[in-house]
Amino acid sequence: MIFSDLGLSPETLKAIEERGYKEPTPIQAKAIPAIQMTRDVVGLAQTGTGKTASFTLPMIDALSGGRAKMRMPRSLVLEPTRELAAQVADNFEVYGKYHNLNKALLVGGQSMGEQMKLLEQGVDVLIATPGRLLDLFDRGHILLNDIKILVIDEADRMMDMGFIPDIEKIVSLIPPMRQTLLFSATMAPEIKKLTEKFLSNPKEISVAATSSPAETVEQFLVKVNQKDKNNTLDTILKQENVKNAFIFCNRKKDVDMVAKWLKGKGYSSEPLHGDMAQVKRTETLQRFKDDKIKLLVCSDVAARGIDVNNVSHVFNYDVPMTADDYVHRIGRTGRAGNTGRAWMMTTDRDEKFLDAVQKLIKKKFDLFDLKQKNKNPPSDSASKKTEKKSTKNSRSPKAKVSEKTPHSKQNDPNLSNEYDDVDGFGDDIPAFLK
Ligand code: AMP
Repeated sequence: MIFSDLGLSPETLKAIEERGYKEPTPIQAKAIPAIQMTRDVVGLAQTGTGKTASFTLPMIDALSGGRAKMRMPRSLVLEPTRELAAQVADNFEVYGKYHNLNKALLVGGQSMGEQMKLLEQGVDVLIATPGRLLDLFDRGHILLNDIKILVIDEADRMMDMGFIPDIEKIVSLIPPMRQTLLFSATMAPEIKKLTEKFLSNPKEISVAATSSPAETVEQFLVKVNQKDKNNTLDTILKQENVKNAFIFCNRKKDVDMVAKWLKGKGYSSEPLHGDMAQVKRTETLQRFKDDKIKLLVCSDVAARGIDVNNVSHVFNYDVPMTADDYVHRIGRTGRAGNTGRAWMMTTDRDEKFLDAVQKLIKKKFDLFDLKQKNKNPPSDSASKKTEKKSTKNSRSPKAKVSEKTPHSKQNDPNLSNEYDDVDGFGDDIPAFLK
């Protein structure tokens, strides 16, 4: 299938072409026609599948005819974090460049005055985090009576962050004569309830992630004492050929501490977490995307769904307390057809959380012995030139969770998951991922 088969407007097709996309991803091929028929849609898809364009493209065409009234946006996209909201706004900007649509981004941490000014001018697409939206609603700066299309994106993340009551309140303020699109990586019972309550006869579309982390990310586990974590991280960083990396900590104070410690050691490293001012968060993220920061030390919430391709490594400074977060963390690497490497440090106290991760990924880690590094280093940045040839073979097969070659479709029953019976790329990797 090609994009022109989807009945999108010539303006939208031109923007897609300029973006360089050759063919729709599976979620786009399925969701776009349903959205064009004004059906409600439940999309089970993670970031990385092209899901954002699957709703932005048809929305742009659907909204192109009308005109927004003052303070009455015509469509609403709800996002759990400011970063995701900003990414969606970028998508509307890129794909909507040949349409004349007004959009506004309502997120915390940014000047309310500016946001109110935009609302006054009339907004076709409003992209918001639930808290800031309700804040402006309660102050009377916004009316939701004219919303024709509502998108609830990353619903499972909204649930994890405790936003479901806010969402219920927001949806109850929008007239029932609307089109509702809900996207979620998983269908937890709370999300199912939400869809039953707020969506009408939705078309359900499931796609596997573009490439499951198990297939493109090599995973390593190292046992440490809590007090040795920084030095161990330093050792691994020196051994690995790190182009750039996310380093995940469970606690915000550790995010700051680790970023500072690494900086002190001469690494290019910065923190990213929810307590930082929005301007600083946006700037840090941009610098990471621009390759000006190599190591981004972050919390789960701040990094969720951030779309940066070509990240070579993920380091789990701590075993995440929620197993799902492990999959989201390591999914920051090995994206868009690249391979990646993920390391995790574990202590005696992490047993429960580690078990939960292993249960979720349906594999047991072998511990990687860093002391063997001189005999058998996984990869070596410090002596890249001399060791380069041996890098590939020197990755300890013992330490790997998955022996799969990237994108191979070997059927490993241990790795079967909830996506087994849904449409995914499988061997049929679209051109843009090759
Ligand atoms: P998303 O799942 O929306 O976060 O998108 C993941 C990445 O895929 C983003 O970098 C998009 O720009 C890119 N993308 C989306 N649709 C396509 C497509 N049809 N062809 C190539 N890349 C795409």
